[in-house]
Amino acid sequence: MLQIDNYVYAESLQEAYDILQTQSGATILGGCGYLRLGGRKIATAIDLSRLDLDYVRETGQDIEIGAMTSLRTLETAALIQQLSSGVLSKSVANIVGIQLRNGVTIGGTVAGRYPFSDPITALMALEAVLVFHNHGRISLKDFLAGKGVKDILVKVVIPKSDSLGAYQSVRRSHTDYAILNTAVTRKNDHFKIIVGCRPGRSASAVKAENYLNEHGLTGESALEAGRLAADELKFGDNPRGSGDYRKAICSVLVQRALMEVMNAA
Ligand SMILES: Cc1cc2nc3c(=O)[nH]c(=O)nc-3n(C[C@H](O)[C@H](O)[C@H](O)COP(=O)(O)OP(=O)(O)OC[C@H]3O[C@@H](n4cnc5c(N)ncnc54)[C@H](O)[C@@H]3O)c2cc1C
Repeated sequence: MLQIDNYVYAESLQEAYDILQTQSGATILGGCGYLRLGGRKIATAIDLSRLDLDYVRETGQDIEIGAMTSLRTLETAALIQQLSSGVLSKSVANIVGIQLRNGVTIGGTVAGRYPFSDPITALMALEAVLVFHNHGRISLKDFLAGKGVKDILVKVVIPKSDSLGAYQSVRRSHTDYAILNTAVTRKNDHFKIIVGCRPGRSASAVKAENYLNEHGLTGESALEAGRLAADELKFGDNPRGSGDYRKAICSVLVQRALMEVMNAA
């Protein structure tokens, strides 16, 4: 069972950050979806829920999502549903059930850098940028490639775009973790193709993207882009599926997502 010795409602981001840096065993709490499942001992738990970090808002160029925003809000907020064919809203729809999605946060999701994550795959396709209290702006792509930072994620920023998008996943059952997922966005002739749960972290299928950027999107090029994505990315085994199975379904999922985008145009 999770054990917390000292519980602090942070009154400012700076206070939360100072505790995180100076107190051994200090831990930021998101929605505690995973934290509460383990038998971890937390010396000081830092609760951000009084810092007004629960929002989805539009600024001049961007859509901003506060770190304490729940996945259910991302599923239902009109701004997110309208963004790139609702690719981010669709990505969270299979995560367990509404009760869990009401509790877990985008901050905990992104900070956790979970390789099986559905929304991280969609956020990569949307070219999201993260804003940390101390480190400032870091692209999600760089954050996933790096070692992580001991900092507070304040918000996720998505550049506004009139791109089309699609999200696809394969799961053994409706609410299980995905065996593989993919998110695609298309803005004019610029494509982003991201594949997650490989079971490594979400990654770009760069050769497939370049191929489409050069050849445009047709039924044939969607098939070829699926093949390229399956060839260029690495897949591995875990209890949900083998690397070979993942590779086989990658080409199909990417092709399906591209066809969805083509048909939506
Ligand atoms: C039973 C179950 C099934 C799930 N199935 C899926 C699934 O199918 N697909 C999927 O994509 N996800 C799934 N998830 C994961 C879920 O969607 C969340 O990503 C996960 O629970 C983390 O979010 P949280 O708010 O609960 O974070 P927490 O558990 O509270 O925190 C996670 C980590 O992030 C840190 N953290 C939290 N907020 C911040 C912040 N603002 N700044 C810095 N660090 C922070 C914490 O210290 C901790 O290390 C599942 C979770 C559970 C419990």
